[in-house]
Amino acid sequence: MTDRFEAVLITRDEEKKQSAAFVEMTEDELMEGDVTVAVEATTVNYKDGLAITGKAPVVRRFPMIPGVDFAGTVTRSTHADWKEGDKVILNGWGVGETHYGAYAAKARVSGDWLVPLPGGMSPREAMAVGTAGYTAMLCVMALERHGITPDRGPVIVTGAAGGVGSVAIALLAGLGYEIAASTGRPSEEAYLKGLGASEIIPREELSGPARPLGKERWAGGVDAVGSHTLANVLSMTCYGGAVAACGLAQGMDLPASVAPFILRGVSLLGVDSVMAPKALRLEAWRRIAGELDHAKLAALSSTLSFHDLLEAAKNIVAGRVRGRLVVEM
Ligand code: NDP
Repeated sequence: MTDRFEAVLITRDEEKKQSAAFVEMTEDELMEGDVTVAVEATTVNYKDGLAITGKAPVVRRFPMIPGVDFAGTVTRSTHADWKEGDKVILNGWGVGETHYGAYAAKARVSGDWLVPLPGGMSPREAMAVGTAGYTAMLCVMALERHGITPDRGPVIVTGAAGGVGSVAIALLAGLGYEIAASTGRPSEEAYLKGLGASEIIPREELSGPARPLGKERWAGGVDAVGSHTLANVLSMTCYGGAVAACGLAQGMDLPASVAPFILRGVSLLGVDSVMAPKALRLEAWRRIAGELDHAKLAALSSTLSFHDLLEAAKNIVAGRVRGRLVVEM
């Protein structure tokens, strides 16, 4: 119980200025929970970048171990569903925000928050998908529930070269969709086409103020960007189409008109991964394990060491990260 391990800890001074540093901790210092997990892999999501840099108020309790997702092995459990040796994944539930998170060798959480690591998937692969990729699958499932099938026409993915965007493209391509990828990084054209995009749409085409209605261009979309971009995507969605919105990389605002909704029957589908019910999570991870192309997952992810985490957090907020970052412990 007294074995020391390394963790990232975010603290706040009297002037409420926050800072992040590597510290040593023991299991006794972890928060309440009925399952303890040896963290084997974690990731850097956009939200982790916001938490570590303090650019947005993601962390709501100090001190805090950041990190919203991990994969690892149960080392101790009093929860009926889990026993020592079980391989598990955690995404969200306030972990890394209000409950000590993934950026430590050990995590203690509620067993209700865990899902099993799908058979045939390693902790590293699960975290190459991570919360961004699991959210991309939730977006795909939302579009499907709305009847947006590949025969309806192309779909757009915004923030395409980021984590959600890259996994969304790989998943949609595997399902047979024609994909338009919107990116601010024209240099990533070959990467995005390699994942399955057939058309590249420059970010500037969608990032300015939107007209109420534009030319109908896509049957659906996965939007990781929000703000004017989402407004433009909606205004160019075909009659009866739908857009799954999960992100705010451009902004949290939505300067749109109701025209796409009331004149074209377009639907805006909200996607949240943090509090998503367990049945939806299990379905998303089952489908990821079965449908996500392994070679594409390898192509869209890169590995960094635990000590590179803080630098990576700055990079993701600055929009400099391509695809997904995995941290192997
Ligand atoms: P990434 O940083 O990996 O991807 C975001 C991408 O958005 C960037 O790569 C870039 O793509 C694009 N982008 C960045 N800044 C701007 C800008 N100012 N204007 C337009 N596009 C921009 O982040 P993640 O994939 O991890 O997360 C994406 C979003 O989804 C975040 O807002 C995150 O908070 C949200 N999210 C929400 C979840 C939920 O539960 N709802 C869960 C997971 C993520 P490019 O270079 O191709 O233009």
